[in-house]
Amino acid sequence: MRIDIMTLFPDMCEAVMGESILGRARKKGALEVHCHQIRDYTDNKQKQVDDYPYGGGLGMVMYAQPIDACFRAVCEQTGERPHLVYLTPQGQVLTQQRAKELAGLPNLCLLCGHYEGVDERVVEALVDEQISIGDYVLTGGELPALVLADCIARLTPGVLSEEACFTEESHFSGLLEYPQYTRPAVWEGREVPAELLSGHHANIDRWRREQSLLRTRRQRPDMLERAEREGRLSEKDREFLKLNPLD
Ligand code: SAM
Repeated sequence: MRIDIMTLFPDMCEAVMGESILGRARKKGALEVHCHQIRDYTDNKQKQVDDYPYGGGLGMVMYAQPIDACFRAVCEQTGERPHLVYLTPQGQVLTQQRAKELAGLPNLCLLCGHYEGVDERVVEALVDEQISIGDYVLTGGELPALVLADCIARLTPGVLSEEACFTEESHFSGLLEYPQYTRPAVWEGREVPAELLSGHHANIDRWRREQSLLRTRRQRPDMLERAEREGRLSEKDREFLKLNPLD
């Protein structure tokens, strides 16, 4: 998969996308990421990228022209028009389900706003989708773009060592993940649950499923209700929850 990020702070994006799992995935070719400096595409001598809002008010608004020119350059490089996502607090809030769908695209381009955001005509003319990472406001779209790129990248084949790394995780199946432990078996008097030390795979799987159900009911009852509504709970799951009511 190829992800292009259009930003006024490409170094910030490169720094994150070049590290750890994503950095390794890029090196081995499982993921292609390009960060583009919007300022390089301005047609004014001062390299100005923003101006005061028409009608007055605080802050600055990013010009349409350099964003459009930057996106045209991205389209030329990729050979086809990528799905363009504008990160904005006004967008649909990101979900694992939407990330899964976006991970199936060959090309994705992310637009990071700054200051008061971008000229609305860019949104009308170019943007395919608006995504928010939550109901709060940040100073720029770089952190949201990195959140989205990370979330999508790890669902891309070849980025994580095994698919099970993400299919068993919180939100993928609509439940929260079971608790995880590593060595030592006893830490500060706290023991790892005996089921995990038993070596009995069926028992371990059942224990994990039950913990997942309990944890979801305690921490995200809305998710458990949705799983029930959508028929994702088995008879065994329901029986277990009935026998283990909330305290
Ligand atoms: N004036 C805008 C509004 O009220 O909707 C907010 C602009 S915000 C200060 C600047 C930029 O940060 C936005 O253009 C967007 O790219 C990014 N941003 C801020 N919060 C975000 C969020 N929760 N999700 C996605 N992007 C966000």
